[in-house]
Amino acid sequence: GFVTFRKGKTPRRPGPKKGSNVEKDPVGVYCRIRPLGTEDQECCVEMISNSTIQLHAPDGLKANRNGEFKEMQYSFKKVFGINTTQMELFEDIGRPLVEDLIHSKNGLLFTYGVTGSGKTYTMTGSPGEGGLLPRSLDLLFNSIGPFQAKRFVFKPDDKNGMEIQSQVDALLERQKRDSQQSVPRTPSSRLKADPEFADMISPEEACKCDNVDDDCCYSVFVSYIEIYNNYIYDLLEDAPFDPIRPKPPQSKLLREDQNHNMYVAGCMEVEVKSTEEAFEVFWKGQKKRRIANTQLNRESSRSHSVFTVKLAQAPLDADGDHILQDKNQVTVSQLCLVDLAGSERTSRTRAEGSRLREAGNINQSLMTLRTCIEVLRENQMYGTNKMVPYRDSKVTHLFKNYFDGEGKVRMIVCVNPKADDYEESSLVMRFAEMAQEVEVARPVDRPICALAAGRRHRNQAFRDELSRRLEERGNSNNAEDPGLLNQLIESLPPIPRCELVDPADDQTLPNLIEVLERRHHIRQMITEQFNQTGTCTFIQNQQSKISEKDKVILNQRSEIDRLEKKSKTLEYKIDILQKTTDMYEQDKRSLQLELETREQRLQKELSERRRMEQRMQGMVTDTKLKWEKECERRVNAKQLEMQNKLWVKDEKLKQLKAIVTESNSSCSAERPQRPSRERDRDRNMGQKRSASPSPAAPPVRPTHRRSHSCGGEKWVDHKPSTNLDLDTVMQPILPNAIKVSTPNEKALSKCHKYVLRHQELASDGEIETKLIKGDVFKTRGGGQAVQFTDIETLKQENPTAPRYSILRNEESCYLVGSSQEHHGH
Ligand code: ADP
Ligand code: MG
Repeated sequence: GFVTFRKGKTPRRPGPKKGSNVEKDPVGVYCRIRPLGTEDQECCVEMISNSTIQLHAPDGLKANRNGEFKEMQYSFKKVFGINTTQMELFEDIGRPLVEDLIHSKNGLLFTYGVTGSGKTYTMTGSPGEGGLLPRSLDLLFNSIGPFQAKRFVFKPDDKNGMEIQSQVDALLERQKRDSQQSVPRTPSSRLKADPEFADMISPEEACKCDNVDDDCCYSVFVSYIEIYNNYIYDLLEDAPFDPIRPKPPQSKLLREDQNHNMYVAGCMEVEVKSTEEAFEVFWKGQKKRRIANTQLNRESSRSHSVFTVKLAQAPLDADGDHILQDKNQVTVSQLCLVDLAGSERTSRTRAEGSRLREAGNINQSLMTLRTCIEVLRENQMYGTNKMVPYRDSKVTHLFKNYFDGEGKVRMIVCVNPKADDYEESSLVMRFAEMAQEVEVARPVDRPICALAAGRRHRNQAFRDELSRRLEERGNSNNAEDPGLLNQLIESLPPIPRCELVDPADDQTLPNLIEVLERRHHIRQMITEQFNQTGTCTFIQNQQSKISEKDKVILNQRSEIDRLEKKSKTLEYKIDILQKTTDMYEQDKRSLQLELETREQRLQKELSERRRMEQRMQGMVTDTKLKWEKECERRVNAKQLEMQNKLWVKDEKLKQLKAIVTESNSSCSAERPQRPSRERDRDRNMGQKRSASPSPAAPPVRPTHRRSHSCGGEKWVDHKPSTNLDLDTVMQPILPNAIKVSTPNEKALSKCHKYVLRHQELASDGEIETKLIKGDVFKTRGGGQAVQFTDIETLKQENPTAPRYSILRNEESCYLVGSSQEHHGH
């Protein structure tokens, strides 16, 4: 059966949409200047640089037109001068296109120029000087040669698609063809080719491109058409040609395939396996073209010829043995080599009779080409969306997909520098220069096949090894020649013609039956032979190989399982870690919040405390001050008290002194002068002073009763609880006295007089009671003060010692509760 591929590989992409970022390349325009012919004198074309030419108006023309022709310069991608060899030109222009073709990219190359400018020479060449076409074929076959598929494995359908057949079907078809061919096809050689177009390429010029995918199988198909008078003719069609009554050849129609690519319907696509074979096909077409032109009285320069090289390729299977039966992996690319008709205007040619219309049409085709290029350029440059009139001529219609699809477009402008061509040449140059401004989408790289590289190589190594082993085995124990198999295969009789044209034909069918039976028999023999020879080892080999591969697969599967498990656990771990992280993150956030609030609180407390401290400090200072004052006050009071006490003691001492002096002599001692202040006070209290005993009088009057001095007055009788009750006869009698053990304010406030009964041990060992008397005053502060006025001493005494028991002290004065002191005597 057929595996059919409808995936058109000719420029198949829809035109790139405006604004899409498809990479684009400008149409590559080259210029080739042919040498001036021997009969021509004036050269109008000058090569200024390797990309610029200048047209010089011929002298005659200048004179006629008053010299208004400008010296025009035109620039191209590259200019090839008269000395450029076919080889150089091919390396620059042809090679990249062929390399693209091998890498599944489409290309279009056309030559454009005035008749006689060298278009055909450039495209086809002449003997010994092959042009772009033979060199392209040579490069192609040199490159893909060993990787070509067997004939009929790829098979073009009639809808511009490519079908692929199994090896067996291809084999059958090969056999069928061989049986039909009258002359057995032997590999053609350059020597055998028509001498007219032999030696296009010298063997030393053979070249090859390196980066060919050797894990692919390739097949080349060529087609050759001529477009004349806007009709398409197939130059490879096997129409029987009747030399006596020539029929006009049948023209072909353009069709659009399902990928919207244009193709010539029903056009022969011949599978070729070598440069020579391809040449043969080309020259066959070329011959036909010539014959037709002669017979039909055509002007060959008025026709366009299109030679198409189609390359089908499909990857080898994983074993590197057969073509992969995967239709999506098949690609078809094509390179169109177009030799356009002469671009000159009709008026210049000697158009007469039927040729007039032809000429007009030819011009029309090139006009359409020019218009299309112009519109394309305008659309691209100004973003307009004008309709490109591809359909107006067959040539432009056929190449529509190159311009709005993808591919590489190259144009070689040929120019003859002779003066006669000047005007036409300048038109050609203007068009060519404009064409450079048109951009065509760059063909994209074919996706790389998923299978491992180097399959073909490995398979070849395997085969070599297998045949080596078979040979070994055959030599050792088997007399059967492995070549027998091949012999048997070759002995298959060809299938005879089986067309039944005559109903009475009783030969064809029996013949066919017989042949088929023989073939069947031979096939059986082949099968047996094959089974005997080496099948076992082969199978064993294969089985061991399979088991090895199985092992590898098993290993890999377990590895995959392991990795999957690992990845699952890791995923689980990641999940857990993620969750933990989230948790911690949340914790962190809440803790941070808490920290912040606590810090705020701390700050508040701190400031509170500082305030408190300040307040406390104030209070402490206040209290300290208060207490310092108080202490001072108390110290002062104590000091006063102590001074008073001291004073009392001094007084006693003085009294004692006085007594002592009195007892020793009759009193003559002078009283010490009192300070003046005391004297003043004495004066104030004059009355009291008068009542007091004179200084000459004895200080103590034994008869003096103190009691009378207090008659009618209220007393505070202070008798400390420690006092002893002595049975002294003489006791003070104090009527209305308030007796107290400790003096108090209340008692003092009610009285005017105060007496303290003070007991102490005298120097002679007797207890002495002193009555210390005083007046009570009200102080200004509201308290009570006592001014001591008198001290009486009561003492029990042994009668042997004559002593006064009462010592009297006058005007002793104490002030209690006030800082003011009055010294009395
Ligand atoms: P066109 O196809 O454009 O009409 P041709 O290719 O037939 O022109 O060339 C006309 C003649 O000029 C031929 O005889 C050809 O050999 C010769 N010629 C053209 N170009 C060159 C060239 N570059 N070098 C040598 N001869 C050339
Ligand atoms: Mg020509």
